[in-house]
Amino acid sequence: MTLLRVEDLTIKFKSRQGVVKAVDKLNFELAQGSSLGIVGESGSGKSVTSLTIMGLLQNANTEITGNIDFDGLDLLKLSPNEMRKIRGNSISMIFQEPMTSLNPLHTCGKQIMEPILIHQKDVSKQEAKNHAIELLRMVGIPSPEQRFHEYPHQMSGGMRQRIMIAIALACNTKLLIADEPTTALDVTIQAQILDLMNSLKKKRDMSIIMITHDLGVVKEMCEKVVVMYTGQIVEKSPTELVFTDPLHPYTRGLLNAIPKISSKVERLEAIEGTVPDALNMPSGCSFHPRCKYATEKCKLKAPPLFQLEDGREVKCFIYDGSKKGDDVNATK
Ligand code: SF4
Repeated sequence: MTLLRVEDLTIKFKSRQGVVKAVDKLNFELAQGSSLGIVGESGSGKSVTSLTIMGLLQNANTEITGNIDFDGLDLLKLSPNEMRKIRGNSISMIFQEPMTSLNPLHTCGKQIMEPILIHQKDVSKQEAKNHAIELLRMVGIPSPEQRFHEYPHQMSGGMRQRIMIAIALACNTKLLIADEPTTALDVTIQAQILDLMNSLKKKRDMSIIMITHDLGVVKEMCEKVVVMYTGQIVEKSPTELVFTDPLHPYTRGLLNAIPKISSKVERLEAIEGTVPDALNMPSGCSFHPRCKYATEKCKLKAPPLFQLEDGREVKCFIYDGSKKGDDVNATK
């Protein structure tokens, strides 16, 4: 069953310098109980997309068009009040740095109880407290009855991220959006948090959108991936195929930047150049200034998203009319 369907989502910001298109005609779906990775460098539009799904971007300087269908509701048509009932209840979000989201003046237990008391009107304070302690136990916090009374600064970075997950799952979460949830953590703790999210996803039949710049995280967590560049999807694929047979030159660049234990290569290959300025986008394919396969056509015309026979989608002229771009795969 499809839980989330994003159709033609376009997000524009008006500034004094002009209008910036942060996201351009985004389309993707997420089935209940499944996970999707949205991957890209900063400025690719991935975080803006997640904030829009959460209903956190509506303001006078933002123009949002398209549809976000979540569990039968068109989120873009809901009032701020209706959206508040969904946020923190059936859709929750966790961020990279829990310290910026947790309130340093309140105990962790109180912060877990808060969404329960807001969204579940018939629950007493004692029941909310019991549920919060249960959640602390579920996310692997030792001595949860004691830890309930502690403040965020008394916990380690990994523990704080577990608290954020407990808050996010306090109600009837159907969709968890995780924006770089492990980037600020060291590698061992990263693996523990990803394991925890994977097991909670299975236990609760919950869907996850993982926003990240790190394809390694996607490999651990997600069944499908969309790769974004300058606000557009450049590749949509099952995760496995992204690693065994990446299509778009940008996806290949991201993969080359991941260290491989088996590889004898000492230097990782970074993608040359930087993401273009949103107010000064290149003509044609927005990746052409960084692409070693760019042709004259790429400089003049933007490629559409080609659908391949195996269902994958890729925004690159190499795949125009071909089952798969065998010419470029031979050189990769
Ligand atoms: Fe490179 Fe051209 Fe493909 Fe763009 S369309 S990614 S410039 S080959």
